[in-house]
Amino acid sequence: MPGGGKPPLRVILCSPRGFCAGVVRAIDSVERALAIHGAPVYVRHEIVHNRYVVDSLKAKGAIFVEELDEIPETDAPVVFSAHGVPKSVPEDARVRNFITLDATCPLVTKVHREAEIHFRRGREIVLIGHAGHPEVVGTMGQLPEGAITLIQTIEEAQTFIPRDAGNLAFVTQTTLSVSDTSEIVAVLRARFPAIVGPHKEDICYATTNRQEAVKLVAPLVDAMVVVGAPNSSNSQRLKEVAERAGCGYAVLVQRAADIDWTRLDGITSLGVTAGASAPEVLVEEVLDAFAQRYELHVETMAATEENMFFPLPRPLRTSEAAE
Ligand code: SF4
Repeated sequence: MPGGGKPPLRVILCSPRGFCAGVVRAIDSVERALAIHGAPVYVRHEIVHNRYVVDSLKAKGAIFVEELDEIPETDAPVVFSAHGVPKSVPEDARVRNFITLDATCPLVTKVHREAEIHFRRGREIVLIGHAGHPEVVGTMGQLPEGAITLIQTIEEAQTFIPRDAGNLAFVTQTTLSVSDTSEIVAVLRARFPAIVGPHKEDICYATTNRQEAVKLVAPLVDAMVVVGAPNSSNSQRLKEVAERAGCGYAVLVQRAADIDWTRLDGITSLGVTAGASAPEVLVEEVLDAFAQRYELHVETMAATEENMFFPLPRPLRTSEAAE
């Protein structure tokens, strides 16, 4: 047998996978803030949902907090994470005279603006998303309490009772399952034909493209490893998409050490992808772990090419201190 007795394993890397433009921008924002202002730089909430990324930034001088009241009086800047924040957060920061840097992904900000426009036009708003996710907390927090109703499931869409069925709008979380969301939207449109929404859902290009790549690869492999964090919405969705697309075993792992090798006994093919907040170095770590046990034959299968780029928040764009 080739490879000194190791069994062969066909590995199909999904493309695109891993970091999206919003995540790159958020991480670069913290690094640039550290370069300009020096340590510490405070970051409200995990800048992106990945422990490896958070730990690397901690090592460079970032201090992560969940709420602003954990931050002492300081001249150090405070960065808001890619997921966005409720309006009350920048207001509190202003009261405390903090220097703030908003790393909210521009595609999340776009959803905030859509919700505001609907509100100004007097519409009742439905947000399709997952309760408790920081992006959902941030979007709901753009408007007064009660202005937005959260809908998480088809059942909730079927039983939702609006104040005025003729004056409704919907927005969505950016990191949902494309197919689940279109089913929920279909229920809402059938019940409330006048409902206003985006042309496509607000699910972002990165979420859509990563799911498309998984749909291509999942039916071809015995198992799919998704590199990502358990609190990363788009990573969780990739695992679900793989299962629904016909992959017998899909698993979400943060690091190679999380792999349960007993579940992979006898596989001859493997798909690998990564959530939008998972760095490629962790994909490489996972591949190295497989290479210790198998003779790998690696190929890439691409759903589409990505070349999205978001410029840094304005205060961080031009500073010689950062060069
Ligand atoms: Fe922005 Fe989408 Fe990335 Fe979230 S997953 S940070 S919305 S590009």
